[in-house]
Amino acid sequence: MAGWRDLNQAITSCRTCPRLVAHCSHIAQVKRRSFQDEDYWGLPVPNLGPKKARILIVGLAPAAHGANRTGRMFTGDRSGDWLFRALHKAGLANQATSTASGDGLKLVDCAITAVCHCAPPDNKPLTEEVKNCEPFLATTIQLCRPPVILALGGLAWTSVLRFASSQNWPVPRPRPKFGHGAMVSLGKNRHLLGSYHPSQQNTFTGRLTEPMFDAVFKQARNLAGLDTNS
Ligand code: SF4
Repeated sequence: MAGWRDLNQAITSCRTCPRLVAHCSHIAQVKRRSFQDEDYWGLPVPNLGPKKARILIVGLAPAAHGANRTGRMFTGDRSGDWLFRALHKAGLANQATSTASGDGLKLVDCAITAVCHCAPPDNKPLTEEVKNCEPFLATTIQLCRPPVILALGGLAWTSVLRFASSQNWPVPRPRPKFGHGAMVSLGKNRHLLGSYHPSQQNTFTGRLTEPMFDAVFKQARNLAGLDTNS
């Protein structure tokens, strides 16, 4: 694949998983009542941010009425509210909100991708669907070559480690466990960092607090060799 733009085009035109393609399209037609007047994206959601990102954030999958509606990663839902607020505080985004394409958002030194680029029913992609989407994650990491990969959640953590093993990067044995703030060196100045996903399940229950989330981005900046905001 030639480059970042080609990759994003390949993602948006992918139709490999029939269940997910049908689900994204169905949600886009039915819509949520509060978004009835909007045109939903209803397709696989491309990566967001520059190829030369020093921090690559790996999420799980687009939300049905978030990125599947707006066509932009983490845009238009509560998880995104948390993520972009934290990115802005860490100097990794020019604004604290991300509501729709064309709102002026720019990521700085970071990019956002996902393990699965289509919104899955109940936010749970099948193993086979994650596998189908893995080549996109692989190409994203290969093109971006970020010094820091930040996995939001255990599934993203596992997928990145699987990719690292496939590339013969030095993955510790036994494979390191996911945790909030967990960190693994993957050789050659590459690090994998773990964070709880800013899902409502985690933020409403207090499993993930704002200071915890901010601390991870501070850690990511340090590992990526960026200036800290402190
Ligand atoms: S989840 Fe990934 S592999 Fe499956 S259809 Fe969507 S973009 Fe393609």
